[in-house]
Amino acid sequence: MNAIATAPVTSAPAENPWHNAQRQFDQAAELSHLDPGLRAVLREVKRQLIVTFPVKMDDGSVRVFEGYRVQHNMARGPAKGGIRYHQGVTLDEVKALAMWMTWKCAIAGLPFGGAKGGIVVDPKHLSEGELERMTRRYATEISVIIGPEYDIPAPDVNTSPKIMAWIMDTISMEQGFSVPAVVTGKPLSVGGSQGRNAATGRGVMFVALEACTRLGIDPKASTVAIQGFGNAGSIAARLMDAQGFTIAAVSDSSGAIHSADGLDIDRLIAHKKATGSVTGFPGASAIAASDVLEVRCDLLVPAALENQLTSENAGRIQARLILEAANGPITPDADILLEQRGITVVPDVLANAGGVTVSYFEWVQDLQSFFWDEDEINARLEKVMHRAFTEVWDSAKQHGVSLRQGAYLLAIERVAEATTDRGIYP
Ligand code: NAD
Repeated sequence: MNAIATAPVTSAPAENPWHNAQRQFDQAAELSHLDPGLRAVLREVKRQLIVTFPVKMDDGSVRVFEGYRVQHNMARGPAKGGIRYHQGVTLDEVKALAMWMTWKCAIAGLPFGGAKGGIVVDPKHLSEGELERMTRRYATEISVIIGPEYDIPAPDVNTSPKIMAWIMDTISMEQGFSVPAVVTGKPLSVGGSQGRNAATGRGVMFVALEACTRLGIDPKASTVAIQGFGNAGSIAARLMDAQGFTIAAVSDSSGAIHSADGLDIDRLIAHKKATGSVTGFPGASAIAASDVLEVRCDLLVPAALENQLTSENAGRIQARLILEAANGPITPDADILLEQRGITVVPDVLANAGGVTVSYFEWVQDLQSFFWDEDEINARLEKVMHRAFTEVWDSAKQHGVSLRQGAYLLAIERVAEATTDRGIYP
């Protein structure tokens, strides 16, 4: 064993996502006159696991990584939520993401609670072998609290179907038999679901159409800017493009591009696959990364990370409608400014619920060993998104509040009802 090196720890973002998540919850709890006891329960996470574990690197050294798995609430069913590999991951970020998952599952009407996991790592600096060994060891470390009946992980930023297959295989090896329902977002070959990979982007497309109808916006006369061109962003771009929207600007972690006439999304996806970035795409002009949020457009889709729209730049946003494909991209202060400016925000807990909805379908299929075709998955997803959008819209209108607050009121009511019906043990 060679020298032991510690994974670099990066500073937490200036805005703490956990404080933002609690602030959003507190506002809705206040509005709904939530019982103080329930409020105290729901504003904290149920369980938080910190794991520190060694991985053998290709050069023979050992590197120590820190990872997390957090379960916010399990009153409505097993916990559900993705796993993120990113150098900026913190325990507070994972706690926020776990709480948002609880509300999202309740809004989509799924029998799940909320969880999230992450490792502090920039996976771009790992070889394939290092990535696999790190994933398998992390899966073993968190295996004490995950399982088909307890907590079911899924992909998130920088994690993929292949990584989900390694997690499924690791848990299966430890059990001695295949446990496909322990994780969703797997490849089709090991119990994945048709339509799961595109589900988050497809859900974003469905809510975009719903919101446009309500607001009297014509998709075919609308331009869109998208921040982040990974699973959520690139598939939302492709499916919105197919509905007639003009995708005028996109960005990823390497930079941003713009074309007023619209980008050819299929060619852009091929370009990103070939070069690793959206930058340098022929026919598009380069713009500053921050400008993707501020360009002239009708719809804005943040699909990267938290805290991208803040009180600093909210005054310069030109879109009429924002769809939060990412989790937590708008800070509470920015939310207030956007609302004052009459900009409609479809919140993350609704806009990106397509991913967890098809994850639910995948889990159900795995438990039954009976698989559905893609048309059936997409039709069921559309039904869930339509119902969730309508309920959130109606809740907001009924209470005279924003769509985010309308969504929170609905979610908190459902989770509070389950918690009350179950009672406090013992
Ligand atoms: P991903 O790893 O597939 O893609 C992330 C993208 O964001 C990449 O293109 C990356 O280059 C880009 N990016 C990172 N930092 C950026 C920055 N500062 N500026 C611009 N672009 C940046 O991840 P994903 O699965 O698409 O997740 C993106 C967001 O969507 C996250 O907030 C995630 O929690 C949320 N989400 C994902 C799913 C899912 O099923 N994958 C479901 C619900 C919500």
